[in-house]
Amino acid sequence: MATPLVAGNWKMNPPTVAEAVALAQALREPLSAAEGVERVVCPPFVALTAVADALAGSPIALGAQNVHPEPKGAFTGEVAGAMLQGVCSHVIVGHSERRHGFGETDGFVSAKVLAVLGLGMTPVLCVGETLEERDAGEASAVVERQTAAGVAGVASDDLGRVVLAYEPVWAIGTGRAATPETAQEMLGGIRAHLGRLTDSATAAQVRLLYGGSVNAANAAELAALPDVDGALVGGASLDPDAFVAIAKAFAGRA
Ligand code: PEP
Repeated sequence: MATPLVAGNWKMNPPTVAEAVALAQALREPLSAAEGVERVVCPPFVALTAVADALAGSPIALGAQNVHPEPKGAFTGEVAGAMLQGVCSHVIVGHSERRHGFGETDGFVSAKVLAVLGLGMTPVLCVGETLEERDAGEASAVVERQTAAGVAGVASDDLGRVVLAYEPVWAIGTGRAATPETAQEMLGGIRAHLGRLTDSATAAQVRLLYGGSVNAANAAELAALPDVDGALVGGASLDPDAFVAIAKAFAGRA
């Protein structure tokens, strides 16, 4: 079984670089001790290098929250993958806040996945349905469409380098996590769909994360699910005790 992975998406927090460094310093020792799980933190762009310095020499990896697919050019306000190389090992791609707040399309997300892989980093590809789509009975169709588009053009040899996070939009930041039954049903369905797109051995290599109101109290039951290989954590990743507890819940899964 693949090493589980727990990633913290700090979003647009904390408010200053100094506070981001302080958060990294608070995490450094206890999170380093949570062995058996790949640990990633994703601070805002401006804090990446300072947090990299604070975590240097630790087993905690760094991720970016976004990337532009083009290598350079007239893209005001954007950050190219090559600018992240050497600082980050992971890049979150297609987070629902980007898809729904900034109009990112499946095609744009797909181009980002390819750019990140091409630069030797790990894309954390996010998929997930809205509440309206779930209520309309479209949840599986939506995540299957997002999954297929997100990995379109990825060579099957490279698919195992993709991390896929199922994050139902209705569970993000709401305190209303998916039930274990729903998380397993959706992630099991995504794995089966990846198997149809490639083959089951390749699909088995893709690490599947659950995200959406993961906290210290619900992490263990999520970690026990067969198709949940880790978690993408928003709010609780800003609380060192909670994030370390989540990492420990997944650490025993390897
Ligand atoms: C996220 O933003 O990826 C997320 C899962 O947020 P939260 O844990 O706060 O729901």
